[in-house]
Amino acid sequence: MQEITIGGTLIWYYYICKREVWLIGHGIEPEQENDYIALGRHIHEIFYRRRKRELTIDNTIKIDILPGRKVIGEIKKSSRYLESAKMQVAFYLYYMKKEKGVPMEGLLLIPEERRRIKVSLTSEIEEELERAIEDIQRILSMERPPSAVKIPYCKRCAYRIMCWA
Ligand code: SF4
Repeated sequence: MQEITIGGTLIWYYYICKREVWLIGHGIEPEQENDYIALGRHIHEIFYRRRKRELTIDNTIKIDILPGRKVIGEIKKSSRYLESAKMQVAFYLYYMKKEKGVPMEGLLLIPEERRRIKVSLTSEIEEELERAIEDIQRILSMERPPSAVKIPYCKRCAYRIMCWA
């Protein structure tokens, strides 16, 4: 099996914007910190300060293990990009299974909406992730980023000035 060298954040962005995958993957800093990113970090810190146990594995992925359970938790500030968030959690489950031989369950936490969504790794999701990982590697190997395509997320994207000014 091919070594997994990408992180969950790139998986999340892959399902939002391929151009952003390239920009982040090439370490290109946005003009300034985006308010939405700052808000997301703030919610994460408040909600999880006492409950989380954060692990960085192989310098590749950073996950929150819920205490006493084989569950990987991921916090989001809203369910607006739910499919991306589910694929991000599924990627962590995939990583733990393939690289560490540890099967786990996933939980997507959206404290502001009081929602907890279970995420499991099915064979269909595994196949989809393998296709996505391959495509992300293809995107990252491109000399230039994919062209900007206007989508609703652009309004809150940290790269919006770079793409649309
Ligand atoms: S501003 Fe829009 S096109 Fe540009 S990286 Fe962000 S989401 Fe993608």
